[in-house]
Amino acid sequence: YLAKERGNNFCFYSSNLNGISIRKMELENGLRKALEQGQLMLYYQPQVSILTREIVGIEALIRWHHPEHGFIAPSEFIPLVEETGLIVPIGKWVVTEACKQRKAWENAGYRDFPIAVNVSVRQFEDEQFIEYILEVLDETGLAANQLELEITESIMQNPENSMIILNQLKDLGVLLSIDDFGTGYSSLSYLKHLPIDKIKIDKSFVDDILYDANQGVMVKTIIDMGLNLNFTVIAEGIETDEQLSFLKKNGCRIGQGYLFSKPIPTEQMDEFLLYTNRKSGIPI
Ligand code: C2E
Ligand code: MG
Ligand code: MG
Ligand code: MG
Repeated sequence: YLAKERGNNFCFYSSNLNGISIRKMELENGLRKALEQGQLMLYYQPQVSILTREIVGIEALIRWHHPEHGFIAPSEFIPLVEETGLIVPIGKWVVTEACKQRKAWENAGYRDFPIAVNVSVRQFEDEQFIEYILEVLDETGLAANQLELEITESIMQNPENSMIILNQLKDLGVLLSIDDFGTGYSSLSYLKHLPIDKIKIDKSFVDDILYDANQGVMVKTIIDMGLNLNFTVIAEGIETDEQLSFLKKNGCRIGQGYLFSKPIPTEQMDEFLLYTNRKSGIPI
């Protein structure tokens, strides 16, 4: 009604719309700058053997260290950059950085474990994606089986194309996992045909495992199904010992969550690895 008072409808609506897009543009420009000026960084969260507590994988998670606002969580900006396409160059940076870091850990003498990187549908469907992965592996000298790509079930909205890409990636020798498993669109009928190595049971299932009998049954069923299809099964978002023992009792062998460690910067992960993954295999 402000516009009406001013007798200028057009201006009111257009400035309102601009208000929305200007905020997005500012964020997008901020992220472009962040990428150029090194404000993006990776944190690392261990994936742990439930039986031995050894680190069997590490997931790289992006962080934006904003000069004024401090750390900004990926949930605040990943959806926007997925929409605008900026996720493609950002995603390339993530893969490169993660592979370099994995190589550094290899050089420091830590035993085999893959570094897992999250990949958005937009990146996955990018024509140069496969080529790029090959390039990074080549440049860093990292073995393909030390890189794991986490995709979500949403790639199955385009099943034929996704199947081709997945098979090409599989041929390269990288590991493939389905993130947030159980929250997406996959139908069980093609799950068995997917050339994937691992499913990650979503945190939302793990949260209620003890208090919601149905949720417990769901998790048991996912574990059984995954193991029967020869996938590695990992549970995400484990926060308590009670959740851990439920998962252990029901055959889940790998876990990730605050119970073991929050995502941490490189230097802290170095220390973590030192305690659990010395090449001798003997935890100190
Ligand atoms: P995700 O891949 O499912 O990662 C797991 C998220 O759960 C991470 O949040 C992690 O910090 C959090 N988490 C892990 N364990 C626990 C726990 O025990 N309790 C609780 N409350 N949270 C836990 P984060 O780092 O904020 O990332 C959120 C999402 O953003 C990721 O979900 C992923 O989908 C996306 N993301 C993160 N980094 C990247 C990236 O480099 N590229 C792309 N495309 N997406 C990314
Ligand atoms: Mg993930
Ligand atoms: Mg997840
Ligand atoms: Mg996710």
